[in-house]
Amino acid sequence: MKSIAAVLTGINEPLQIEELLLPALKRGQALIEVAYSGICHSQLNEIHGLKGEDKFIPHTLGHEGSGIVLEAGPDVAKVRPGDRVVLTWIKGMGYDAASTQYLRKDGTVVNSGAISTFLTHANISENRLVPITEAMPLKEAALLGCALPTGAGIVRNRAKMQPGESLAVFGLGGIGLSAILMASCIDKRNRKSDSADNPSAIIAIDINEDKLSLAREIGASHTINALVKDPIETIMEITSGQGVHYAVEAAGIGAVMEQAFRSVRDEGGLCILAGNLPQGETISIDPFDLIKGKQIVGTWGGETDPDKDIPFYEKLFLSNAVNLKPLVHSVYPLYQINEAIKNMEKGQAGRCLIRMEPA
Ligand SMILES: [Zn+2]
Repeated sequence: MKSIAAVLTGINEPLQIEELLLPALKRGQALIEVAYSGICHSQLNEIHGLKGEDKFIPHTLGHEGSGIVLEAGPDVAKVRPGDRVVLTWIKGMGYDAASTQYLRKDGTVVNSGAISTFLTHANISENRLVPITEAMPLKEAALLGCALPTGAGIVRNRAKMQPGESLAVFGLGGIGLSAILMASCIDKRNRKSDSADNPSAIIAIDINEDKLSLAREIGASHTINALVKDPIETIMEITSGQGVHYAVEAAGIGAVMEQAFRSVRDEGGLCILAGNLPQGETISIDPFDLIKGKQIVGTWGGETDPDKDIPFYEKLFLSNAVNLKPLVHSVYPLYQINEAIKNMEKGQAGRCLIRMEPA
């Protein structure tokens, strides 16, 4: 079996589109025909070498996507040929298969982890696959692999946000927007069921007007352009001087992490860091804020349990409780992946998806 893949061959190099040969399936792997892949900041960090030394170059990339199972390898019980699946880096049930190496025509090797999604066909570990129903479109399903479960999971699983509580989201990439989408879903359900309307303040902060207007479209009650207004002062005005119940940092900027921490209320306000800093960078906080009861934590994929949470988000989408469509800015064919990456780095609002061309 052959695959067309976008391969990282050097730091800060454009990805190379190459034809690779897939080896036989190992124990616990399934062969997937990839339909769509998202592009995450995580891959941009890999391309730019921000995660430290990369011993695996040349390697494939990508960790959120959707596709169809073509073949199930030895001991795979979770999926069967023909199943539609979400591809996710977050480990779920099933066999944790060893990583894969693909072969070039000249016999040299291209490394791959347990999951890769920037390619037309991939051998993927069973525990990175979650079956979805026939009703779920593969395009939106690709979002369920990383951005949506991380952002929504922060709100549901980490913050356990309740109706009427306030949330500030700093940085409106895929994770930040997904956090707003989930908070707005919690808020809407409350308004339907509770006549004593107690709306949540859902505050979106960014420096990009397109992203701020997308945040309003998907449910932010307030937006702050941090180039125009001071986010902390504005959040204090909105929350009558108290600060928010929860702040999510999804910009991956040290100074913004510090702001997010300061924006939460004393006595239990929780700041959740979802962004990553380049290796070695640190942040500083005032310990007296901790004494006053502000809290700060990180998150691992929104504490997502893929086998429970991904079907839950699928149901929310199929019942129109959350609309994932505005999160997709544009779809590029695989051979234009470098253009998609450039546009993403320019700061376009919403996710870029890659559509795999048939091999
Ligand atoms: Zn990701």
